[in-house]
Amino acid sequence: MSEETEKMTRKEKIQLNKRAFSIWYREYPALFVSTGIYSMLDAVFPYIILYFSAQLLNELAGARQKEILIQKIIILLSAEAFVLLLKAVVCRWKNVLSDGTCIYFYDRKRQFDKLLSMDFCDVESPWTQALLREVQQTSMWRNYGVRRVYMQYQEFLKALFKLLGGIGLSVSLFQLPVRADAGWLTMLNHPLCILLLALFLCGVTLLSPWLEMVGKRCVIQCEQDLKLGNRFFGFFEDLVSADKRALDVRLYGQERFLTQLNPIQNDFGVNSKIARFSRGRMGIASAASAAVSRIFGGLIYLFVCLKAWGGAFGVGSVTQYIGAVTAMSGGLAKLLELAGDAGINAFYMKKEFMFLDIPNRMYQGSLTVEKRSDKNYEVEFRNVSFRYPNTEAYALKNVSLKFRVGERLALVGQNGSGKTTFIKLLCRLYDPTEGEILLNGIDIRKYDYQEYMSVFSVVFQDFQLLAYSVGQNIAARASYDREKAESCCEKAGFWERVKSMPEGLDTILYKDMTEEGVEISGGEEQKIAIARAMYRDSAFLILDEPTAALDPMAEYEIYTRLNEIVEDRTAIYISHRLSSCRFCDEIIVFHEGSMVQQGSHEALLEQEGGKYRELWNTQAQYYVSDAS
Ligand code: ADP
Repeated sequence: MSEETEKMTRKEKIQLNKRAFSIWYREYPALFVSTGIYSMLDAVFPYIILYFSAQLLNELAGARQKEILIQKIIILLSAEAFVLLLKAVVCRWKNVLSDGTCIYFYDRKRQFDKLLSMDFCDVESPWTQALLREVQQTSMWRNYGVRRVYMQYQEFLKALFKLLGGIGLSVSLFQLPVRADAGWLTMLNHPLCILLLALFLCGVTLLSPWLEMVGKRCVIQCEQDLKLGNRFFGFFEDLVSADKRALDVRLYGQERFLTQLNPIQNDFGVNSKIARFSRGRMGIASAASAAVSRIFGGLIYLFVCLKAWGGAFGVGSVTQYIGAVTAMSGGLAKLLELAGDAGINAFYMKKEFMFLDIPNRMYQGSLTVEKRSDKNYEVEFRNVSFRYPNTEAYALKNVSLKFRVGERLALVGQNGSGKTTFIKLLCRLYDPTEGEILLNGIDIRKYDYQEYMSVFSVVFQDFQLLAYSVGQNIAARASYDREKAESCCEKAGFWERVKSMPEGLDTILYKDMTEEGVEISGGEEQKIAIARAMYRDSAFLILDEPTAALDPMAEYEIYTRLNEIVEDRTAIYISHRLSSCRFCDEIIVFHEGSMVQQGSHEALLEQEGGKYRELWNTQAQYYVSDAS
């Protein structure tokens, strides 16, 4: 990775930093202003104290006039009180803004918003997922990425004001001459001596951040190993603590695998690459960096004390100069360190922007969908074929089909025959490779996506409920129509259960958020998902294996309620249980991506050698042998 960082031009690094900075600034201008003022006050405050204290000490060590001493004490205390008060006010302003902003949350939200607006094929792509994982990992683990720019901004301003304040307070150190009768000490007045000292101090100041960077580069070289180790560590922690896996782990003693495969020893242990670096290059650089700082401090003490000894200034000024020069050098070193760090961060930001810049290739239409209270929408698949990105085989081949309004349609077929793909195309998660899908005679690509999707309610097999209240889950929003939620619950056959819950519709699901949360079975989850689909009140209801998690009684209950659930909607079912498809007006049989049969249950059963009859007989056989 360090090679890749080095391959980036300075211009590219600056552009990436500018872009990240402008993102934050555009979103939170007031936060930036308050942070700027706070950083300035924070950096300048010690200098104010240093300056007035030095004045006071000089007076104490010199003439010791009472009035002047009192005057200086009052000035020192007033200046300190004023700046402290101002700093506290600005700090509060900044904190209120930064707490409200919650930098970390908005950083993640930017990524989530991107995921939500991205073409679905890109969301599913392993490349996108790997990139996002990498971005999130470096952001969480080492604070690198767009988020870091805000932190660097604060550090940069502090360092800059520290440097400027230090220069302001230490100029006179070099200007004030030692007394002419100070013997050999007068050589400290020689311009060459001052130049040599300044050069030496600059050199030492530059050396420290350079040594720091040597250390950081070592860490970066171990990055891939450490990332793997961290990922493994996260997985290990999750494996033991996640309630969904805990049972399997205990039952099969899966933790044994972990001790065998554990790469943490290799990545973090005493023989790891990072440990070798710590004993070698990185450790030496870090020790040298600390030593250089001490040498620098020693030299400053020596120079300032010698000048004071030579009578250039009073004892009080010694603290001022030592403090000012040390802080000035610290400020300069920090600026240099930040410049290096911004260069390294550019590499991570490049990855983050690569993710944020993934283009939407699917055509984005803008037509609105006509709102019809009679739900009279007609959908047609016209010669639709589809291949998933980067695959050769067609998942759907030349499908032509028209849904009649208010019809109950079943899609059946073996696993991998293309049923879910058909639904994904209908929901425009993908666009057909060939052919077109029409809603009321217009290509669905031409509609605004949100408008188009408002016509559909889908219960996917792997639907997700959230740890919110039952009612909020049904309505999919925080505030909702309670009567409507209740009626949907009733139709889905879940109302009795809701009534028995401690808080009825307000009962929180799962224990993620609260101890009082209620755990529910897979079948109950499925009923809530069905109620949620009904609450949307859309023209099409799509149920992917709607009764897969239900026991035979509950399944029977759902199917007897089917007419109530579907009402005047057009319903599309995907089901493996052919017995449940008998309730449908029309059954479409998929086989290897093609529609091979279409008709009512009775008509299809009669077709000798047909796929449906074959599937039906196979399932009937199971039921017969199960029963016997
Ligand atoms: P069904 O729902 O009938 O079980 P699918 O529509 O899920 O079948 O799958 C149809 C075909 O498309 C299968 O061969 C499957 O492997 C393939 N497929 C499904 N999803 C993807 C995907 N995201 N990427 C590549 N191929 C896929």
